[in-house]
Amino acid sequence: MLQKYDVVIMGAGAAGLMCAAEAGKRDRQVLVLDHANKAGKKILMSGGARCNFTNYYVEPERYLSHNPHFCKSALSRYTQWDFIALVDKHGIPYHEKKEGQLFCDHKASDILNMLLDECAQVGAQVQLKTSIEQIEALISDDAAGMRYQVSTSSGKVQCQSLVVATGGPSIPTLGASGFGYDVARQFGLKVYPTRAALVPFVTTDHNKSLCESLSGTSLAISVSCNGQSFSDDLLFTHRGLSGPAMLQISLYWNEGDEIQINLLPSENLEKLLREQQHLRPKVSLKNWLAEHFTQKFAVLWLEQNHPALMAYTLAQLSGANMDMIAQQLHQWRLKPSGTEGYRTAEVALGGVDTDEVSSKTMEVKSHPGLYFIGEVLDVTGHLGGFNFQWAWASAVAAAGHV
Ligand SMILES: Cc1cc2nc3c(=O)[nH]c(=O)nc-3n(C[C@H](O)[C@H](O)[C@H](O)COP(=O)(O)OP(=O)(O)OC[C@H]3O[C@@H](n4cnc5c(N)ncnc54)[C@H](O)[C@@H]3O)c2cc1C
Repeated sequence: MLQKYDVVIMGAGAAGLMCAAEAGKRDRQVLVLDHANKAGKKILMSGGARCNFTNYYVEPERYLSHNPHFCKSALSRYTQWDFIALVDKHGIPYHEKKEGQLFCDHKASDILNMLLDECAQVGAQVQLKTSIEQIEALISDDAAGMRYQVSTSSGKVQCQSLVVATGGPSIPTLGASGFGYDVARQFGLKVYPTRAALVPFVTTDHNKSLCESLSGTSLAISVSCNGQSFSDDLLFTHRGLSGPAMLQISLYWNEGDEIQINLLPSENLEKLLREQQHLRPKVSLKNWLAEHFTQKFAVLWLEQNHPALMAYTLAQLSGANMDMIAQQLHQWRLKPSGTEGYRTAEVALGGVDTDEVSSKTMEVKSHPGLYFIGEVLDVTGHLGGFNFQWAWASAVAAAGHV
């Protein structure tokens, strides 16, 4: 049976549900299609299941895109304050974790249920377990103005506006796919190559055993790569390096690039070591390092870098020793062998070229009635709630026009 809707949205994730709820408020008849057995799976697992749903400090500079200006219009018209007002309206308790990052007090499902409630209130239908087989642009407009036809596992549906909100390919086990890129290519749109980002690093060189042995240890560090720096926590893992600082820098890292880590950014170690040598000459270097890092780190780091100094007291260190230790701890240079890839990445960098799309409405310039929103577009935010804010803002921009 052929069904007809004003708007069909492909993807019942963050952007798709938001767009459905907002378009429904304009009395548009909306159908959301998703192949997964549950809506919003990424929302549910986001932010350690507490969903970092936005950030107090949303700025265009927090986003990467081949066109860094593209995101400005949508972000300024639907801001973090608008989304916070929606969260407040639903009585969802939340807190600021750090640096403006807002998380649910209870569960990420509070945000998903809020979006599903909003959809239900305006009669937007969400149809799950439906695979999309074919998309066609209808050649001649019929009286109802149907412009696209979507063939699905449960029949054909026609619509005036077709919204692609199928996200990126990270975490394929959740139903994520590169489907949106295929749709873009079908309509002749340019798609920038994608790669996994906000993702842990893997090391296979001499650092592997250090990472393995320190697995679970977290340090407050700063990390730099390609002219970008982040100060946050680093977490050693069995496979390499993770933690928010490393996830952030993965946005700027390309294969083969060197990363520089300052393992103790809060101190000037050259100066501090000399002072301490005076004040506490009998303290062992190992114990002194343990005060600033952890006992395990101090032992393993010395074993790997300066086994001869393992039993030294501060008094026994030469000026050259101290300079070398300070330099190595302030400027740990390493070349990760790769990342964990889409299996664990939070986002995909790249995607549908934003030049193909209106920044005001997200409508494809060459195909009226076709829209791309959310992560499928070449807009990627930093860690900290910025990606969801992009999903909400781009969805609302399209919802006002579909
Ligand atoms: C583990 C994890 C944690 C994260 N934590 C945060 C966080 O705390 N804060 C933050 O801002 N961002 C976070 N993100 C990123 C955020 O989840 C995404 O940026 C956001 O969900 C993108 O929204 P979207 O609607 O574009 O895509 P999605 O939310 O991924 O939705 C896409 C939908 O399309 C459906 N779909 C895909 N392919 C098809 C197809 N072929 N047919 C039909 N349906 C299809 C999927 O099933 C899915 O429901 C996290 C991501 C991950 C993976």
